[in-house]
Amino acid sequence: MSLRFNAISSISGSEKEAVVVPASSKITGIFGSNVFTLKTAREFLSEEGYKSLITSIKGGKKIDRNVANQIANGIRAWAESKGVTHYTHWFQPLTGTTAEKHDSFFTIKSDGTAIEEFDGAALIQQEPDASSFPSGGLRATFEARGYTAWDPSSPAFILEIGQGKTLCIPTIFVSYTGESLDYKAPLLKALETLNKSAVEVCNYFDKNVTKVTATLGWEQEYFVIDEALANARPDLIQCGRTVYGAAPAKGQQLEDHYFGSIPERVYAFMRDYEQEAYKLGIPLRTRHNEVAPAQFECAPIFEEVNIAVDHNTLLMDIMSRVAKRHRLVVLLHEKPFAGINGSGKHNNWSMATDTGVNLLAPGKTPKTNLMFLTFFVNTIKAVHDYADIMRAAIASAPNDHRLGANEAPPAIISVFVGQYLAKVLADIETRVNTKFDEQDEAILKLDLHRSIPELMLDNTDRNRTSPFAFTGNKFEFRAVGSSANCAISMTVMNTIMADTLKKFKAEVDGLIEKGDKKEIAIMHVIQKYIVESKSVLFEGDGYSDEWHHEAERRGLPNLKTTPIALDAMITDKAKKLFESNGVYTHVELEARHEIELEKYIKKVQIEARIMGDLAINHILPAAIKYQNELLTNINGLKAAGLPETAYKSQLVMLTEVSEHIQVIHDKVHAMVEARKIVNNMEDTRTKAIAYESQVKSAFFDDIRYHVDKLEQLVDDETWTLPKYREMLFLR
Ligand code: ADP
Ligand code: MG
Repeated sequence: MSLRFNAISSISGSEKEAVVVPASSKITGIFGSNVFTLKTAREFLSEEGYKSLITSIKGGKKIDRNVANQIANGIRAWAESKGVTHYTHWFQPLTGTTAEKHDSFFTIKSDGTAIEEFDGAALIQQEPDASSFPSGGLRATFEARGYTAWDPSSPAFILEIGQGKTLCIPTIFVSYTGESLDYKAPLLKALETLNKSAVEVCNYFDKNVTKVTATLGWEQEYFVIDEALANARPDLIQCGRTVYGAAPAKGQQLEDHYFGSIPERVYAFMRDYEQEAYKLGIPLRTRHNEVAPAQFECAPIFEEVNIAVDHNTLLMDIMSRVAKRHRLVVLLHEKPFAGINGSGKHNNWSMATDTGVNLLAPGKTPKTNLMFLTFFVNTIKAVHDYADIMRAAIASAPNDHRLGANEAPPAIISVFVGQYLAKVLADIETRVNTKFDEQDEAILKLDLHRSIPELMLDNTDRNRTSPFAFTGNKFEFRAVGSSANCAISMTVMNTIMADTLKKFKAEVDGLIEKGDKKEIAIMHVIQKYIVESKSVLFEGDGYSDEWHHEAERRGLPNLKTTPIALDAMITDKAKKLFESNGVYTHVELEARHEIELEKYIKKVQIEARIMGDLAINHILPAAIKYQNELLTNINGLKAAGLPETAYKSQLVMLTEVSEHIQVIHDKVHAMVEARKIVNNMEDTRTKAIAYESQVKSAFFDDIRYHVDKLEQLVDDETWTLPKYREMLFLR
């Protein structure tokens, strides 16, 4: 029996065992129990150690060796009290997953005594054998070694895997000469530059603000399917998506899955991973079905960006591990199944002050409204000026299947603000002119204040087709892919915002120097920014063809493929932006550009190989078996002396099957030849572009068309690969 039928019978049969999920206790009872929180720190650290930890979290100050030893001892004491024997520096290399290298607390001293030890040096730095993490040539150019260094702003935690428990120290990953080799190091730099610029602008309105943190609430979409079925699909196992598969009779057209009741097996899985997440301090709040069958979503309460990013990468890992216990597989790929919705990861982003103000929430007084407008308009301006870099931040081989298809935001970056705010912006644009004086300003301020409270009603005015939408008190970057590390888009978002605010401040200060009153100066620059960036505002249907034409008229970029979209990372504009804000050096940018291109090439290459493999080893053998059956049947009818009318249909079927077999065979071979040519290309960018045009676009859809036709022709009993209707609906 084929894997496919084995899998199907295991789902309906007795092999499906129920997993016992711990009775859901109150979340507060377990929340953060595996995290070295400040409360735990107070308990396990000396006064000196605790104070030093706090200052380093708040001000990013360095901790000296002595104190580091104390902190390390405290963390180890806490971890050991929970049965932990090993520790690891936990980091996010550019592979897109998380990395760990476990070391034991156990050590032997020079006099031969065996002890448990974890000292300050081990807390602060570790040298993993990092030679096979992507570095884009950085380590070769500078220094072979890569180091992980403690990030005190993200708390240590205990990861429980099966019976084992490991203390994880969140770290950055850098080369010996200091170049970033991970996603976290540049993110921390971006958050720091945003903090600086945003505080300065806040001080126009409130001198008490001393710190601004960016906030992120991600919404993680994913698919869940049965493990046995997934195991019978080599494409799912190897590339995370199905490269073949005919559309089922019932897909998502009835829209009966969205917010429907959650299937029991998946519900048990959700409760299980939520428990694990709570222990790790991940504040998950919502769970529901998504649009496509077998698609779901979870979202936490928003947190400071650095923590939110760690929590998202950690959760993706936890979900995949916990799914195994339930004999399920989580698919985080952006497009596991053709013809139904793919998965994204909305990044809800805002900024908050240490005085407790959300800078993107409309204010309660005319004065706080001006602060809101300042940050609101600066965000629009940032997106307008750096749309190409935002597009590059979300570019990946899997996300190319989503962006621009009729389900996800288009590859054109635009901003949706809703009708009320659009009117507010238009009002400012016309009313603030050269002879704008204090009296005009006072009247405008009151008028705006009157219209802004209506914003609350505007919450229903949601445009789901916009890649970047204002949703009442935050912007939602919707084009981010489900498997992406949010740090990439968050690094860009916070850097472009910092840069725009810096320029804004310079312009306002310039006007003040010339004698303008502060609020008049601010209004003038806001008006100028509205005029300069209004081409990026779009309230209509982002999925429509008209928008593509309209965007072209407006001169907005519409880059559909990753290799081209990535160009924006290494333009002079990008280098200036990231260097002047201290986020990436141009060398780091070039290295990252190279890594992203290589990732793209490898992903397309693996998919092409899998397509060839499945076609030759699964599809064609099944089709030929069926071809033989038809032949036997036709010959038998002929031999029995029946007229041709008796086997006319069989002949038609035989011809069709034979034609598809020929085409698939020829195209697979042609694709191999095309790959040989492309593989010989020297330049990475040229090669990536060629992989897109000469391999992916030239063959993938075409081969798939014929394979999917065969699936619909060949006897179901003979077909070895699980079908869409099985993967999407059997649980
Ligand atoms: P949806 O977009 O599905 O309607 P919600 O509006 O409830 O969902 O929120 C989505 C996410 O936005 C949640 O993770 C929430 O915590 C987050 N969010 C809310 N306010 C902020 C904020 N100020 N900064 C960042 N994220 C926020
Ligand atoms: Mg959302």
